Amino acid sequence: MCGIVGIVQRDSTKIGKNIIDSLRKLEYRGYDSVGIATIDNDQVVVSKEQGKITEVIDKMQLDDLHGKIAIGHTRWATHGPPSKENSHPHTDCKNEIAVIHNGIIENFQSLKEELVSQGHEFQSETDTELIPHLIEQLMQEKQMNLKDAIIHTARKLEGTFAICVLSSLEPDRIYCAKRDSPLVLGINADRMFCASDIPAFLSHTQQVVLLHDEEFVTLSHDGYEIINFRDMKKVNRKPYIVSWKPEMAQKGGFPHFMLKEIHEQPSSLADYIRIKQPSLNKIAEKIYDAKKVFLLAAGTAHYSTLTGENLIRKYAKKACSAIIASEYDSVSPLIDEETIVLPVSQSGETMDTIMAIKDAKKLGAKVLSAVNVIGSSITRHSDEVLYLYAGPEIGVAATKTYTAQTLSMWDIGLEIGKISGELGNNEYNEARRLFNEIPSVVKQTIVRSEALTNRIASWFAKKSSSFYLGRGVNLQTAKEGALKMKEIAYIHSEAYPAGESKHGPIALIEEDYPVVFIAPEDQTHKRMIGSIMEMKTRGATTIGVIEEGDKEIGELVKWKIEIPKGYSEMITTIPYVVPLQLLAYYTAVRKNLSPDMPRNLSKSVTVL
Ligand code: GLU
Repeated sequence: MCGIVGIVQRDSTKIGKNIIDSLRKLEYRGYDSVGIATIDNDQVVVSKEQGKITEVIDKMQLDDLHGKIAIGHTRWATHGPPSKENSHPHTDCKNEIAVIHNGIIENFQSLKEELVSQGHEFQSETDTELIPHLIEQLMQEKQMNLKDAIIHTARKLEGTFAICVLSSLEPDRIYCAKRDSPLVLGINADRMFCASDIPAFLSHTQQVVLLHDEEFVTLSHDGYEIINFRDMKKVNRKPYIVSWKPEMAQKGGFPHFMLKEIHEQPSSLADYIRIKQPSLNKIAEKIYDAKKVFLLAAGTAHYSTLTGENLIRKYAKKACSAIIASEYDSVSPLIDEETIVLPVSQSGETMDTIMAIKDAKKLGAKVLSAVNVIGSSITRHSDEVLYLYAGPEIGVAATKTYTAQTLSMWDIGLEIGKISGELGNNEYNEARRLFNEIPSVVKQTIVRSEALTNRIASWFAKKSSSFYLGRGVNLQTAKEGALKMKEIAYIHSEAYPAGESKHGPIALIEEDYPVVFIAPEDQTHKRMIGSIMEMKTRGATTIGVIEEGDKEIGELVKWKIEIPKGYSEMITTIPYVVPLQLLAYYTAVRKNLSPDMPRNLSKSVTVL
């Protein structure tokens, strides 16, 4: 994710400031660097820096940026760590074409190699930089004009992109193209905008044109022209008027970032699956060859490592433990050269985890990590990194990064299963088929469970304490569900292994006490029925997250939340957690709490 903005204005004053004003409105999308390109005296002028807008604004000398058109970018690194060189805009060899990009170009390696062999010089590690060079190459080699060269480039790109291009060769217009990454136009008599999202221009205009995939736009003072860049057909699309308030617009129409991020999971999980990472195989092999494996994490990420622990034990047949990073000292005496530590983190900056891996490295361990933020501290201390590609998460309570972390654990687990032979060819292929379907299963789960969880929430909101019970791999789903309820709805919630609940916790059960069961139809199903009966007999009000059509448990529990069929044996820890996220969210809303900013919590804990 990142923010992109392009402006074509009638006068040439304050273009730098105008771009920055718009970029600020997209700050919620998260970013690590900022950059602008304008055209001044027939030259492309690029100004870019690593850091937040407020930190770099003085260095960028915005007041010196003149011109009638400009493009601006806030980067969320995917290819190459945050740095001035990797910041956008990127330019061609002659510095005539500047490009900003949101997304990931999947075939960038092969395209870049070809361009390098043709003599193009690259300044950055990004996938984006190949775009201006490819446009330049097509103009030189095929004698194309700028517009045709951009269209041909867009056709050659695989992956996701929203790109804006400006060039000193045609200084009165911005060209844009998109596939899968967002891009909208804002129409105003004095200033035309293209941007990743409506808030970028909402204070100037409410007239919006939404762009569709495979569309190409020419934006100038005189208006905009849209064509489909595959069949070259003209698209007639009139602006519509948005009625959102700016704050609502930043959340894509959702009342809170947390709900937006819950709904983003089908696409964030699909991104992870789509991007093939060479580190995956190396990580799986190293874990398989290691003597000892410790997974390290804090908070929600720790629960994802419990999935990892379970799968490594199962498929590598190896002693493996998921350790809470702040409790690392207890395993430090076991660390040596034959140990792998695998930190999992959203921010890559969690201090407890960093301290643990620093010590483990000193003792000779190899560090293999799964991290969302590229270039973060943990990635720099790692021998191999698997990126989560979940995009920035604004809500303090983790949702889409938890499911991405958990998916990465399944990814590693399945590869180990293949290497060890624990998963035969057919089993492996079947598991991968289910793995690839996860985004759509999560989508169906959200659609089916949202209204119901909202209803249950109106009852849950009156409670002060609850249990979440699971067995096997779904004990961590229970733990994550309980943590969400605690974090944002401030209801004491305790997760317990269902079988263990009779050894103590059951003493708390009284009439109408909430107990949530995570109960897919796996080998734990029969024993789960026993646990439900024990709780019901003592007056508990039961909620079951169960497989669709599971009559046995469906008839026992007061509320049944159904997960699509076929997800009871594999990868359950992802779809089964989704209704628990929604339940916590709606309970917080029913209590008039702010789910995005729970008290006393912060997004990334950088203190010990
Ligand atoms: N893939 C590009 C990069 O790493 C764009 C990232 C973004 O969307 O901000 O620079």
